[in-house]
Amino acid sequence: MLQKLNTKSQHEPGYIELKNITHAYDTKKILDDISFSMKDGEIICLLGASGSGKSTLLRLIAGVEALISGSIKINGNIIVDKTTFIPPERRNIGMVFQDYALFPHLTIIKNIMFGNNRNGKITREQAMTQLEYIDLVAYADDYPNMISGGQQQRVALARTLATEPDILLLDEPFSGLDSKLREELRVETKKLIKTKNISAIFVTHDAEEALYLADRIILLNDSKIEQIDSPKNMLKAPSSIFAAQYLRRYNIVEVSVKDDIVVSPFGSFNIKNLCCCRHTKLKSNHKIAHMLIAENDIHLETHDAPDKFDHQMDVKVLQINHYSEFSELQLSVEGLNQPLTLRTSLREKDVMIGDVYQAHFNYKNILIFSGDQ
Ligand code: ADP
Ligand code: MG
Repeated sequence: MLQKLNTKSQHEPGYIELKNITHAYDTKKILDDISFSMKDGEIICLLGASGSGKSTLLRLIAGVEALISGSIKINGNIIVDKTTFIPPERRNIGMVFQDYALFPHLTIIKNIMFGNNRNGKITREQAMTQLEYIDLVAYADDYPNMISGGQQQRVALARTLATEPDILLLDEPFSGLDSKLREELRVETKKLIKTKNISAIFVTHDAEEALYLADRIILLNDSKIEQIDSPKNMLKAPSSIFAAQYLRRYNIVEVSVKDDIVVSPFGSFNIKNLCCCRHTKLKSNHKIAHMLIAENDIHLETHDAPDKFDHQMDVKVLQINHYSEFSELQLSVEGLNQPLTLRTSLREKDVMIGDVYQAHFNYKNILIFSGDQ
């Protein structure tokens, strides 16, 4: 067997650094100048729509796709650049894919014992420990087709963890499962990765999954990094309308900005008065700008103790749609030439189409972007 990189013996195991990664298939640019680094024990979620290059980036890190330009370091060692190529089997990287890729002719325990860890062959005892982590000891001697899809995906994760990788790469591992199971596995996987303090890059197109799992999210758009941030910061201060809408549902209302005064259909206000000034890349004058009001930041009642940033308005209910966790209302607002969408729990209200209410939102919660974003 080829000797693996001795990354764990150094001071920062798991540390990954990507610099200026650019990749294309034929002439089609897939990744454009991607750079980021991650800390040991960090979970990074690569978030982006289908086709945004997420899997390509994972394959480059794993070494199963040839790098065209840029460099990748793991724990300070170059693993690939113009002149270096450390083969995949020496990178101490574990991968988990959507299709569990278990061997159908091997029992669960034999599947886990299949690979090598740092000390050579994985023993039955070590494999059993992995099965304990995922609560599947009772199925050790069953074959993959005898357990459910969710259980198979857990085994795939355990099989990869049994090889004691420094870095775990997960490519949409739960996307083939139904939503309830996906949520359960999300919780379990995060617990497992954090308990073992493994550095992980988790690819997903699902914002909820990224928000739950990630220490930091890397949002990809049009072959570039749109934003790198913690889930909290990305929700609070998205860098663009694209980033905002990828994570939350917003109403977008056209406004203009002149000398820091935002002129909106709701009235005018000074942008500098807004708490946190959540207007990014906004200079003082814009004929066209966009004001984003989150659908669940509009409330269907008068505010008991409004502050000067609260905007109260009369609304009429145009349409009601119900979901399990909330209801969605379309509202017409006087002076606004578009309906507003509001998401809220309607448990205590008996709202009917045609009802007139007072509603409010707070300017402190809005986002403003220039027209060219
Ligand atoms: P994602 O994982 O974000 O859905 P991928 O990295 O799989 O995106 O693919 C990005 C783009 O590159 C897609 O348009 C895809 O069709 C294309 N692509 C991926 N792999 C290849 C390949 N081996 N040859 C040619 N085009 C590819
Ligand atoms: Mg993919």
